[in-house]
Amino acid sequence: MRTNSIKNMAFKPEFTAHNCPAANKKNIGIIGAGVNAAQAIGFFSKHGMSVTTGACPSVGIAGGFGLGGGHGPLAPTHGLMVDQAVEFDVVTTDSVFRTINECNEPDLFWAMRGGGGSSFAVLVNYKFQLHPQVRWATWRIEATLSPDSPDITENAVLREILTPVSNEQHTWSKNRVTGYDTVSHTFVSFFQILPDSGDTLAKLKKATANFHSFMTTHPGINVTTDLYQVFDSQPEFYAGEAEGIAAASIVGASILTPSRLITTDNFETPKKIDNLVSAFLGGMEVARKQLGEELAAGVAFFILKTGAINTPDTEKATSVNPAWRKTLWHVIIIASWPPGAPKEVSGKITTAARDALDVIKAPLSVQAAYFNEADVAGPDWKNVYFGEPYEKLLTIKKKWDPDTVLNCVKCIGYLGEQDPMYSCDSKNPIPSVPYPFGQAEIDITSDGNVLVDMQKEL
Ligand SMILES: Cc1cc2nc3c(=O)[nH]c(=O)nc-3n(C[C@H](O)[C@H](O)[C@H](O)COP(=O)(O)OP(=O)(O)OC[C@H]3O[C@@H](n4cnc5c(N)ncnc54)[C@H](O)[C@@H]3O)c2cc1C
Repeated sequence: MRTNSIKNMAFKPEFTAHNCPAANKKNIGIIGAGVNAAQAIGFFSKHGMSVTTGACPSVGIAGGFGLGGGHGPLAPTHGLMVDQAVEFDVVTTDSVFRTINECNEPDLFWAMRGGGGSSFAVLVNYKFQLHPQVRWATWRIEATLSPDSPDITENAVLREILTPVSNEQHTWSKNRVTGYDTVSHTFVSFFQILPDSGDTLAKLKKATANFHSFMTTHPGINVTTDLYQVFDSQPEFYAGEAEGIAAASIVGASILTPSRLITTDNFETPKKIDNLVSAFLGGMEVARKQLGEELAAGVAFFILKTGAINTPDTEKATSVNPAWRKTLWHVIIIASWPPGAPKEVSGKITTAARDALDVIKAPLSVQAAYFNEADVAGPDWKNVYFGEPYEKLLTIKKKWDPDTVLNCVKCIGYLGEQDPMYSCDSKNPIPSVPYPFGQAEIDITSDGNVLVDMQKEL
């Protein structure tokens, strides 16, 4: 189903919800399913409003992003995209167009606020809270390191850098400082962002003063970029930082993204921080050893500081993995290889990234990942992707899509490899249309069994 051309957008300073006075709100945006971040930012900024988009302007915000979570630089301030939702127009699998909100089909509305795309209904319009424009202060610091030993676990300077970053993270996130970091054996890049009112730049400088002083005075750190900036609005931030954002956005390559949401408990004591930093360095070392110099660039380590810790969702109005409410770091190990790379190369890179994550996730008490940016082959997906809401989501899925019209791998209601659509990944592929084509009928019962009408096949 192609939703890309559903590009309608409207601004409602006074929004009246469908049969639901409780959902009447001020400053609501309405976007069609095909609107991307750049289009929404451009449109709503003309009304003095900002939008809870992700990092990349080209990513759509109503589909997989807006139904599965949707984190970005405004997440520590206003929460995830799903937190902004007030009403959806959807088409359910019984072919009925419905307007759903907290009063009308509240179970479906709840499920679509975090339970993922392609699972419950087709979203047509996303109606969500906008926020008045503020100024965006940024600080980018980049540095090269010259470690004595190639063993990353012995890289004392990198350990020294990651320790204050971890120490300060809770305070930064509480103060709505967000950002995107890249860490390697010989290079680090920290990009801190504060969208706020008042003297935003002074606030960011104050919040980052200790770490700035550490980075710029340490004899083992060779700072190559140290730049504070301030932008007057969200579009100016994205335009001004376009180059840096593009550098971190991989387009056209094959990628795999083993990842973990790293929750606040891992930052509580010096001992826990030490464990976390050791695990991070240990994971990097595993990848380095397996890949060697030649393939080292195939695996990169990103820390996204876009958790929603300041919006606890105490009413449980959304179905997104509750770990998001305690997330300080969304760690993504990006494994990438160019189109046409030999299988042994892509295999080596994916194995290294997965093995690295195994080391990083080992000390974590909460095992959670953002399914929009995770490894589809990771274990325990129901718990890791969805957490506690999984069972309720599954019940709602069965109610609204009893025949599994909507499906995707490891989404709510995924039937597993016995689903002909995905059985080609299994040892026992079941053709959706048995050969010779057009002569058999195949059906899947609600408990997941595949029925092939052999009479017709023969
Ligand atoms: C370069 C890049 C940067 C990213 N940055 C971020 C980021 O900063 N923050 C973040 O949260 N995520 C980010 N993501 C991940 C992003 O959230 C996911 O890729 C998400 O799935 C994108 O949704 P989509 O609808 O554009 O993609 P699609 O692949 O089209 O859809 C994803 C799933 O949702 C379903 N779906 C799509 N539209 C609808 C609809 N209208 N109704 C029902 N189901 C639908 C699809 O069937 C599919 O199962 C990034 C991804 C990329 C490629």
